[in-house]
Amino acid sequence: MVGAAVDAGVTRMITMGVDLEHTERGLALAHKHPEVFAGVGHYPTETSPPDLEAMRMLARDERVVAVGEVGLDFQDSAGPPRDVQIERLDSLFTLAVELGLPVSIHNREAAAEVAAAIVAHPGLRGAMHYFALEWNWAERFLDLGFYLSFAGLVTRPSRNALREVVKRCPADRLLLETDSPYGQAHKRMGVPNRPAYLLDTATLVAELRGTSLDELAKVEHANAFALFQKMS
Ligand SMILES: [Zn+2]
Repeated sequence: MVGAAVDAGVTRMITMGVDLEHTERGLALAHKHPEVFAGVGHYPTETSPPDLEAMRMLARDERVVAVGEVGLDFQDSAGPPRDVQIERLDSLFTLAVELGLPVSIHNREAAAEVAAAIVAHPGLRGAMHYFALEWNWAERFLDLGFYLSFAGLVTRPSRNALREVVKRCPADRLLLETDSPYGQAHKRMGVPNRPAYLLDTATLVAELRGTSLDELAKVEHANAFALFQKMS
C-alpha cells in the first residue's frame, strides 16, 4: 500500500492513532517505511479515557510527528457525553503543548467547542482534519492559526460550500489527506480508500484553485513540513 502511494507521488504519510493499540501499530509501520510517520491519538468516541502517561511514552519515538486523532464527536451517539469528551480533549491538548507536537483534530458537530478548547491552550498548533465546514468556520480556525486539511469529500459534486473554502483557503494553510480507509473520493465510492488516491483530491483542489498539480504539491509539501516539523 505504501509502495503504491509512493508510485503515485505521495512521498509522506502520517498514520494517525485512535487508541494505544492503533498508535503502536502505526508506529511499527512508520519504523518500517521511511515515508510513513505516526500520530499518537485517542479518538473522541473511545469509551475509556486516554492513558496520558502511555501516550507521553509513545510520543518520545522519533517517528511520532503529531498528537492525533483527537477531538470531539457530538454526532456519534456511541461516544461519551459531551462534557466528558471536552474534559478529555483538554487533557490531550495540554499533552500536545507539553510535548511541542501539533494536533490533528477530528470535529463532528462540535466546531464551537473545539474552537473554545483551542483558545484555552495558547501555543497549540495543528490541523483541522477532514475539513468539511463552510467558510465562516474555516475563517475562525484560520484565525486561530490552524491549517485546513482537505480530503476526498471535496470531490463530491454536491459540496459547493466546501469547494468555496478550498478556493479561499490561504496557500500557506492548506493540507491534503485521504483519511484512508475512509473518506473516499467521489469516483472511489464503495472501495476502501488508499493513500495513493490522494491524487484524486489533489487534482481537483489544484483545478479549483487555478494552479498546477506540481505547484500545489510544492505548497502542500512545505505546509506539511512546517506543521509536522519532525517529518522533515
Ligand atoms: Zn476523523
